[in-house]
Amino acid sequence: MDGATKLVGVIGWPVAHSLSPVMHNAAFDALGLNWRYVAMPVRTEDVGAALRGLRALGFQGVNVTVPHKQRVVPHLAGISPEARTLGAVNTLSAGPDGWHGDNTDARGFIRDLIAHGVDVKGKMCLVLGAGGAARAVVYALTAAGGRVAVFNRTHTRALDLVSDLTGLFPGGVLTAHAMAQLGDFVRDGERAPGLIVNTTSVGMWPDAGTSPWPDGLKIPPETVVYDLVYKPLRTRFLEQAESCGARTIDGIGMLVHQGAEALQLWTGQEAPIDVMTGAAREAAASMTESEAANGEKEHQHL
Ligand code: NAP
Repeated sequence: MDGATKLVGVIGWPVAHSLSPVMHNAAFDALGLNWRYVAMPVRTEDVGAALRGLRALGFQGVNVTVPHKQRVVPHLAGISPEARTLGAVNTLSAGPDGWHGDNTDARGFIRDLIAHGVDVKGKMCLVLGAGGAARAVVYALTAAGGRVAVFNRTHTRALDLVSDLTGLFPGGVLTAHAMAQLGDFVRDGERAPGLIVNTTSVGMWPDAGTSPWPDGLKIPPETVVYDLVYKPLRTRFLEQAESCGARTIDGIGMLVHQGAEALQLWTGQEAPIDVMTGAAREAAASMTESEAANGEKEHQHL
């Protein structure tokens, strides 16, 4: 770093174990850019002051992670239509008039599906969960022409998500269900899923022995199964899917692609996806091991 180094980073609480610094700094090195990415723990009550400070310090961009994705909105000079629709911002870019907010999660998810050769057009897609990540995933799948069924422990939250997004996709097929209805839905051969996506936090370290998928419920072998959880990389849900012969995709690719979209917004350069994937995968594997050894319990985030 020197006097000309340009700075970006992530704010959240906590962020000590974020994979983003490793992933972005590897990308800056590969691109030969004099940029650095830092993780900055910011308490909820300090979000406004932090954003003013980062602007005063000349930061070029900021990622926003849990629990601040909604909280940053009142502090923005502008917000992209996608971030407004999703009700959450994960990327800020410095503009002449202040911070501009975007959400790269939906694009990150769909880009990773495309990178894996998965086309959801006309396919039945089951989404487990109805939180913030589910909104991005359901938005992306519906925009790509998938037929989407959302299952959530709290049925009303699934109903709210579907009602919020249905208006955007008048021709889309989007339904909400209680998680308890999952078995009947999957056993109904008429609605065989092409894709199942876990967007719940179930299975995430330190509760790696848990899964959102009921034991004994068969996953058709032609299904693609995607888990947003990447800590651990091999979740119990992905193991269940593999044991049924299904193809599996872990959550690192979405993390990398949402980060790549942010990097492109900030630098105007194409992100080195392979470099970012290698750095994030290596850090995720070693982090889970060291946390296991130390008995640490921090959740995954950007
Ligand atoms: P969130 O808004 O808090 O939503 C959590 C979801 O998990 C809700 O649907 C919640 O259901 C469900 N859930 C939590 N505990 C449950 C349990 N014991 N049984 C059944 N359902 C349960 O969180 P989020 O921001 O959407 O994040 C969800 C996960 O996605 C996290 O693991 C996050 O790290 C991951 N993620 C990954 C990426 C990536 O790039 N790979 C990006 C974003 C998020 P209720 O509504 O019933 O509470």
